[in-house]
Amino acid sequence: MHDKTVVELSAALGQGDFSSEELTRACLERVAALDGRLNSFITVTQEQALAAARAADTHIAAGEAGPLTGIPFAHKDIFCTRDVRTSCGSRMLDNFIAPYDATVTQQLAAAGAVMIGKTNMDEFAMGSSNETSYYGPVKNPWNTDTVPGGSSGGSAAAVAARLVPVSTGTDTGGSIRQPAALCGITGLKPTYGRVSRYGMIAFASSLDQGGPFARSAEDAALLLGAMAGFDPRDSTSVDRPVDDYRAALNDSLEGLRIGLPKEFFGEGLDARTGAAIEAALQEYEKLGATLTEISLPHVGYSVPVYYVVAPAECSSNLSRYDGVRFGHRAADVKDLQDMYRRSRGEGFGAEVKRRIMIGTYALSAGYYDAYYLKAQQVRRQIREDYLGAIGEVDVIMGPTAPGEAFGLGEKADDPVSMYLSDIYTIAVNLAGLPGMSIPAGFADGLPVGLQLIGNYFDEARLLNVAHRYQQVTDWHRQAPPGFE
Ligand code: GLN
Repeated sequence: MHDKTVVELSAALGQGDFSSEELTRACLERVAALDGRLNSFITVTQEQALAAARAADTHIAAGEAGPLTGIPFAHKDIFCTRDVRTSCGSRMLDNFIAPYDATVTQQLAAAGAVMIGKTNMDEFAMGSSNETSYYGPVKNPWNTDTVPGGSSGGSAAAVAARLVPVSTGTDTGGSIRQPAALCGITGLKPTYGRVSRYGMIAFASSLDQGGPFARSAEDAALLLGAMAGFDPRDSTSVDRPVDDYRAALNDSLEGLRIGLPKEFFGEGLDARTGAAIEAALQEYEKLGATLTEISLPHVGYSVPVYYVVAPAECSSNLSRYDGVRFGHRAADVKDLQDMYRRSRGEGFGAEVKRRIMIGTYALSAGYYDAYYLKAQQVRRQIREDYLGAIGEVDVIMGPTAPGEAFGLGEKADDPVSMYLSDIYTIAVNLAGLPGMSIPAGFADGLPVGLQLIGNYFDEARLLNVAHRYQQVTDWHRQAPPGFE
């Protein structure tokens, strides 16, 4: 059961091969048996899951099933789930039981999907390795001495290890695509505004976007279809109909123009990762695509721009955690100032504090123009670079990450080297474009991800381009040894 895709599971549920309750129990048993090696879950919601599965079985029996009815999944612990702890990977929210559901949570529940738990993540989604979590690091199922990527590392590891067929993630600078690449699965960051941010705990509001993890593009299309949509409760949500992401999956790639940014293939790219990407591009040529070199002249500034914009926004968003309304409150405080200081001091980890300090500095009087305003200007240039390139090509491709999964602890004390893990993904968030990572081979036994970047709201095209490749390759079908 656990190796089947959502499409296969849905057909099996419809035919009565097994019930959603049996399927859900099988996932819960796999989590109980195997997650000790990975630490991909923070919370397992066994009782609620079985109740939701039984409800799904009733819908299936009544002939009211959709493609996700009865399908187990896991939510990144950044999406609010009513009556279930929503920690965001932080001690600050360790005791937070969300009083309401995120829009994405509601939509997936309405589609009949069965949440089995909440996955581990970097604290407040800040990180590229899942090592900043208050709940301990997640291990990569391909090699448990290496990181799964971050910040959605728990969601990616859980899908790669076949604990669940699909999961949700969020991507502010790469947190869906980079862990998808490092864990050998498919992940999609939608266009900014496509998926509601209501009830998704905010990190950097102008960059954050939720999206699906799956093992195949076809499954990602199904999950995205249920997550996407206009939401009047999110003022940046875009009021535009949701495409049928499955309808175009099989379209021909004959004549597809692929742009290869020369900035993505130079210094800094690991040679074995680069070789896997080259081989994938040749596969696309066989499918009828043409390759053209393009240039994104300002993309080299994306990491410094991001590390002004994202900390600035996070310093503002995280000011709400003051120990007064919700979240961690220090014991035995002397006065209000002492309570603020100690609650925040105890509740936040080192990386979150670093970002709050950088952001507060960048936004302070006298520095705002030099840092934040300048970063916003360069951000605009990066967006213009992408839009210019996208006029000439249909999709942009390159590596998702500069190398394969690195060792646990290897970059933990070197923030700049950690920040460079997102060098190919961050600019996509700065521009608000959709991006995707699909498995494209191995380097040293560890998965390599190919990144696909499209125009605004071109998710259907990205999924089509990914699906055609998955029809002629089987990288996405490989299971990590020990988790087959
Ligand atoms: N790794 C990046 C950061 O640490 C991006 C994280 C994300 O996309 N949430 O901010």
